Amino acid sequence: MSRLWNFSAGPAALPLPVLERAQRELLDWNGSGASVMEQSHRGKRFIAMAQQVEADLRELMGIPSHYAVLFEQGGATQHFAQIPMNLAREGDSADYIVTGHWSEKAANEAAPYVRVHVAATSKADGYLHMAPRDTWQLDPAASYAHIATNETIHGVQFQHVPDVGSVPLVADMSSDILSGPVDVSRFGLIYAGAQKNIGPSGLVLMIIRRDLLERPTRPMAKIFRYAEHAANDSMLNTPNTWGWYLAGLTFQWLKENGGLAVMGERNRQKAELLYGTIDGSGGYYRNPIDPAVRSRMNIPFTLHDSALDAAFLQESEAAGLLALKGHKALGGMRASLYNAVPLEAVQALVDFMRDFARRHG
Ligand SMILES: *Cc1c(COP(=O)(O)O)cnc(C)c1O
Repeated sequence: MSRLWNFSAGPAALPLPVLERAQRELLDWNGSGASVMEQSHRGKRFIAMAQQVEADLRELMGIPSHYAVLFEQGGATQHFAQIPMNLAREGDSADYIVTGHWSEKAANEAAPYVRVHVAATSKADGYLHMAPRDTWQLDPAASYAHIATNETIHGVQFQHVPDVGSVPLVADMSSDILSGPVDVSRFGLIYAGAQKNIGPSGLVLMIIRRDLLERPTRPMAKIFRYAEHAANDSMLNTPNTWGWYLAGLTFQWLKENGGLAVMGERNRQKAELLYGTIDGSGGYYRNPIDPAVRSRMNIPFTLHDSALDAAFLQESEAAGLLALKGHKALGGMRASLYNAVPLEAVQALVDFMRDFARRHG
């Protein structure tokens, strides 16, 4: 058996120790005589685990007590729609900062439920830079302002939490949550699909300021209402028990490895190594993103001649480097460097890239 270095954008690599522990515990979890997937979410063991998972996340991210933590389903995409259902009344408006594919999709999916006001967009230049904060047309009466902290496809990332005044800041952090320290108190709501930096798909982590749960909303079924999920400890119906468990193993792994400050430093080193190789290749490889907003998680790059793409993909896979094909919207290559991808993997990638450039000069 051999595990290869995995640069998948999502579902993405998980930490090896997490997978090994899940494997060890699969048949008999926690002395229960059954796997974690085969028992009630209302049982003592599962409830105790769920509480520990939340406590570990609160410790890792420094989540203040006036925020609720939810373990949701539906993918981040479902919450593109559910967030306006919960935070806006009929006729209200919300500001969207559009910096790439995902924040654009978030705005489009919200449109049936809130008057979407695009306060800034860099679509016209193909999302190669970010509209500077002082050009945003924010509305002080907006229900909330929405950003995607990291654009997984376009490779653009906020380097600081933007100031949006007293309007709650809502952030899709699907592809950079837990990648470094973050000041949760700057946000009204943080949400993230699990399959990039947390665990398997089918789980969405949500961190929401409790006062926002009390906003009056339109009539809707309980299952759509975050306040109901919070009041029922995310067990309004059967949760994704396997995803919850694996997320917990990832949080423990993060704690054992020094927490988010250490992760942030590692991620900075990994990204620097790859960008340095791209920028130092004399134009053989190219990343066209404004260096001031380049992503540390997802790094798209092109070869100087796209006729070499097929050879690059075939040879990289043969060299043990998985999933480097770029998103179909951009073409070229993309390397995703989430927490579970070690510096060693990035070193193997840049060694391969230099060697490929020499051989196909
Ligand atoms: C992957 C991703 C999504 C979509 O997640 P799903 O779980 O497939 O709905 C949304 N936003 C960002 C930033 C992503 O990276």
